Formats: sequence, structure tokens, C-alpha cells
Amino acid sequence: MDAIGFDPLTGFLDRGGCLRAAVRLAEFCRRQDKPFSVLWADLDRFKQVNESFGHLGGDAVIAMVARRLGDAVAGRAEAARMGGDEFVFLVPSCDRRRAEQIAEELLRTITMPVEVGNIRMRPSGSVGVAVLDDAEESLALIERADRAMLEAKRLGGGRYVVSGDEQVPGRVGVLLAREELLIESQIHAALESGGLTLHYQPIINFNGSIESAEALMRCEVQGQSLAPGKIIPVAEKTGLISRLGEWSMLNAAQHARRLRDHGFATKVAVNVSRAQLMAPRFVEALYAALYCGDIEPSLLELELTESLFLDVSETVQTNLKAARQAGVSLAIDDFGTGYSCLANLKDIPASKLKLDRAFISVLPDDRRALAVVRAIAQLGRELGMTIVAEGVETERQFDILAELNVDAVQGFLRARPMDGEALVEWLRRW
Ligand code: C2E
Ligand code: MG
Ligand code: MG
Repeated sequence: MDAIGFDPLTGFLDRGGCLRAAVRLAEFCRRQDKPFSVLWADLDRFKQVNESFGHLGGDAVIAMVARRLGDAVAGRAEAARMGGDEFVFLVPSCDRRRAEQIAEELLRTITMPVEVGNIRMRPSGSVGVAVLDDAEESLALIERADRAMLEAKRLGGGRYVVSGDEQVPGRVGVLLAREELLIESQIHAALESGGLTLHYQPIINFNGSIESAEALMRCEVQGQSLAPGKIIPVAEKTGLISRLGEWSMLNAAQHARRLRDHGFATKVAVNVSRAQLMAPRFVEALYAALYCGDIEPSLLELELTESLFLDVSETVQTNLKAARQAGVSLAIDDFGTGYSCLANLKDIPASKLKLDRAFISVLPDDRRALAVVRAIAQLGRELGMTIVAEGVETERQFDILAELNVDAVQGFLRARPMDGEALVEWLRRW
């Protein structure tokens, strides 16, 4: 089979045939409004095979692997050999999820044992996946799949990478995926353009008094808002978290001051991430916030994830101690999701436990969650800690938590996070 457009060794399309087929399939999928994926597969360390078995042996391996790959995707994809040990699969009507499944199948197929003479070997491969973008040329699509394959090789081979997920250096040289890179630049833009704000969600005691208000970061860039769940991890990776953290502590303290000026001595709780507490200058930032905010330290609370309390590093310990000594209270956030070690609770300098939403959202149906909440509430009480239930959304949950002697609730049922002005109004009405 050495017709024009075909590779004689494998019977697959050759490079020219592949490019023509890609143009045709891309047009077809666009007309049908269907996705189109390209997978580029390459054997790892194939040079060694050629060196050990000679080119004839190498060709035998390629023919064998190609036959298996062709069978694996038969009826779903057009297969091509781009030269050497490089194969391309053109898959019409295939979105990212299906393309990733096919990539896994290709990787599994490649690792099936191959016999050359009397030697048995298990090759491994690297696969790059690219899904056609709007208005993208099919040649560019194939090149993206090739670059993603090279990234899979750079990461050690035996894996696939989806184009767009490759790690590229960000502003401070840390490797980031493309989406993270975009978020990094959006955080900078927000810091420069005033796109960062804090919203506040009241935490309400069962006796009706206000326990505190939690400050939650909101970020808006060019009309688009970014959830803290997206921003914080990127900020931690890039070190931007110090700036964000200083900014939120300062603003939270200033808002506590504003509330006090309005006659509400409401404590403001601010989230502090692990990366912040690992920085030696954390204490300075905390003092600066208290000083510039001009508030009593008792009006500020730090919410920390439980794993932080188990961190034995000296910096974290010193920072926690300094915060306590300054008179700032500490709360354990999202309790129950991390490395809850009840034995450690007695040594932890926190006065509040916030039960994670995961336990609350399944109430009242989940008997086990109910038992856990009951036990933690009792334990916390005996340790003299305030117990807060996060994510309370229904009256039923509220009633159960009251029965379980939880101290306070936070959740959409009573109040959603709101901006600083709205909080003043809300407190007035409450
Ligand atoms: P968190 O500290 O556990 O904050 C509570 C989260 O639960 C908030 O999400 C809040 O909007 C949400 N929430 C409150 N009540 C309900 C409810 O009834 N139902 C549901 N489904 N959700 C509820 P948000 O604002 O998206 O924040 C997510 C996380 O991001 C926070 O979890 C916190 O860990 C982190 N974060 C937020 N702001 C900051 C910040 O300034 N600094 C740091 N380091 N982390 C922050
Ligand atoms: Mg929190
Ligand atoms: Mg929480």
C-alpha cells in the first residue's frame, strides 16, 4: 500500500495525507457544530530501540505498535504516521473528555509487550491532545498537539498532556498552567485597578447576637468576577498571597473600625492561608493592620485551616503565638475536612471551631454526619471553644444545630456575604 498519502510501513496516512485529512475533518466538524480533537502519540526512548535492534528491528516494533493503535481507534479516528515513531490520530466529534479517554487507551495500548527476536520489551509513550478552537487552522491544531506531546515527554513520558494545560513560567518564574497564568495577571490587574474588595457574612449566635462577620475576598477584573477558590491557590503558588493577605487583613481591620464608629462592636474574621503564615513578616503585617485600623485586637479574628495548627515549623508556631499574644483570636476553619486529629485540639491556641459545610449540607438525612457534629460540638464545648456551623441553608438544619448545642451559624439561610455598606445596614436592621 504505497499510494500517495499513505505510509507504506503502517498503512496509515502519511504526513501529507494527514494534513489534508485534518483540513477536511476540521471543516466537517465546524459545519456540524461538533468538536474535533487531535492526538499526537510518540514512543518514549525509541532511539534506544533503534540502537539496540537496528533499524529493521525498530521498524518491526513500529509496525506492531501501529497495528495495535490502529485497532484501538478503528472506526473512531483517522490514523497517520508523521515519520519515525510519531503517530497522529484525527478524531471528529470528539470533545476534551473523550479525547482524554482515547489518550489513556493509546497509552495503554503502547505499553503492551512487544517481542523483537527473543527479547520482550514494554514500550511507553507520550501523548499530546488538542481540541480545535474557534477559528483555528487545522495545521495550528496539529502543532498544538505536538507541543503538548513534547510537554508530556518533558514531564517524564508515559502520560498525556492536554494543550493549554502545559506549565509555562509566570511573572515570577514559577511554572503555571495557562489558566493559572491568566489568573495571575488578573490578580495583578485587580491589585492595580482597585478590583479587590471584601464582602462580609454575619455569623449569628443562637441567642440572636452577632458573633462576628467573616471577610471574604471578591475580585473583579473588567466586569468578570473571580472566585476566591480560583485566586487563592494561584496567589499561594506565585507568592502574591503576601500582598493579598496584607491587603485583606488591613481592610478587614479598617472595616471593624468603621463598624465600631457606627456603634457595632462586631468582630471581623479574616481568612489567612498557609503560605501567609509561613512568611516571617506575617507578624509585622498583622501589627500594621491593627495599628492602621486603629482597633482593639479583640475585634479581629484569624481563620486558619486545621492543618496549620499541626505544622511544627518554627515560623508558623512563632506567628501563631504572636497573634495570640497581640490579643487576636484564632478560629479553626473548615474543621473536619483536613487532618483532624482530635488529640491535638487540646494544644491548639484557637478559641473557635468552624464545622465544615460538608457536614452541615447533608443534615438531617445523614446519620453519621449528625453523630460527628454532635460529638464535635460536645468536645468543643468541653474544651471551652465556640462552635460555628458553616453553610447553614435550611430551617431544618438550623433547628437540628440548635438541638445539638452548636453556638452559632453562618450560611445563606440567615445572610449571604454582602459588601461593607450593606453589612452596616444589615446590622442596623438585625
Ligand atoms: P471559607 O473561609 O470556608 O468561607 C466560607 C465560604 O462558604 C465562602 O465562599 C462563602 O461564600 C460560602 N458560604 C457561606 N454560606 C454558605 C452557604 O450557606 N452555602 C454555600 N454553598 N456556601 C456558603 P467564598 O467566598 O467563595 O470563599 C471560599 C474560600 O476562599 C473561603 O472559604 C476561604 O478559605 C477562601 N478565602 C476567601 N477570602 C479569602 C481571603 O481574603 N484570604 C484567604 N487566604 N482566603 C480567602
Ligand atoms: Mg473562613
Ligand atoms: Mg470555612
